[in-house]
Amino acid sequence: MTYLSATVLSLIGLRIGVNLLSCLLDLNYDKVNKYNMNSEGPEEYLCNTAQYQSKLSYTQIITNLFYLLCLYIFLKYDLLFILSDTVSALGLHLFWITILYCTILILILRGVSLPLALLNFKLKKDYKLLESSYSSFLTEYIKTSIYFCVVCGMILGGLSLLYNSNNSIFWYILITCSFLISFLFSKISRLFSLISKQNESLMGGKLRDELINIATKEDVNITKIIMLNGIASTNLMNAYTCGSINKTVVFSKNIVDNLSHSEIKAIFLHEITHYKNNDLFKDIIFVILSNIICLSSFYFCINTILNPILGDSYIFCVKMLLFVIMYSPINLIQRVIYNYMSRQMEYNADDYSAKICGTDTMISALNSIAENNLSQYHSHPFSVWLYNSHPTYYSRIIKLQGIKNL
Ligand SMILES: [Zn+2]
Repeated sequence: MTYLSATVLSLIGLRIGVNLLSCLLDLNYDKVNKYNMNSEGPEEYLCNTAQYQSKLSYTQIITNLFYLLCLYIFLKYDLLFILSDTVSALGLHLFWITILYCTILILILRGVSLPLALLNFKLKKDYKLLESSYSSFLTEYIKTSIYFCVVCGMILGGLSLLYNSNNSIFWYILITCSFLISFLFSKISRLFSLISKQNESLMGGKLRDELINIATKEDVNITKIIMLNGIASTNLMNAYTCGSINKTVVFSKNIVDNLSHSEIKAIFLHEITHYKNNDLFKDIIFVILSNIICLSSFYFCINTILNPILGDSYIFCVKMLLFVIMYSPINLIQRVIYNYMSRQMEYNADDYSAKICGTDTMISALNSIAENNLSQYHSHPFSVWLYNSHPTYYSRIIKLQGIKNL
């Protein structure tokens, strides 16, 4: 194993090691508590959630160990470099070589990940969080793999051509593209929902009018309220905002069908508070700052580490991949900072909604969502600190009760 591969493996090992530590700490943590006693049949719910969460933790541990093993094999046997030599030997144009290189890597990755994806799918299906069949899951999996190959191949192929033809233009275009993506950041969740073929419709009727009235009173100009209909794959309850100019609130159908009108209003108020507090704008600023750090690290890594070691021996795509892997610990630090900021935004949105709709309504809405999604109430503080963009339901409810008792 070369010195470079060992360094790359240590960095990604550090990242996966932290993941594993968090999963292990969380494994025996009491994830469920009695805060859901107002709901019907809490015992059955608590039992189901505890079982589901424990199985989910084991799946995550297996997944982390599996990825660590795969990366070890790839780097130990220099497979990234061998593959680069093999495709380069075909004598094709650099653009096609890069597309071929990406396609082979993505297909290997998706192929070896399939058993884990199936395990995850089965778990969610067993607990009725998903409704789609195995065949539609496989079709989606194959389709997504093809999308990945085409999109990643074209982007990396284009970037490789640009880097090889004009180094300085490459950096300007990369900076421009990353800033464009930052501005589209708030649209990305919507884009994912459209790619995963969720049918959406505009919410209508009396409830919509009441929600728009609430938004008007709060001085938030909501353009659209969208309902995701019978999402092909999921029964999860979800609500989010997207779009900074065309302000939009999205609800999953399950929320509209199963929550009371006052609970839906509380969730809606939570969402529009994100607009009131300019949370989407703060998100964009954070993404821009992260991009600046990432691009500077990329420039530094290519020019002072990868180019001197690898020279022109391998296609540019190899260097980009090595950078992505090496950058993952820094990316984790960025996520920890973002998650802290995001959890504060969630508390603020909960507080405001509770002040207008009543604390009990907000708590009851949170309980209903947690119960439906078999979400964990509690999480080990280390896992929360590391990964949770939202506070745990336990923390949110305790905070709301604190406000109520003031
Ligand atoms: Zn929120």
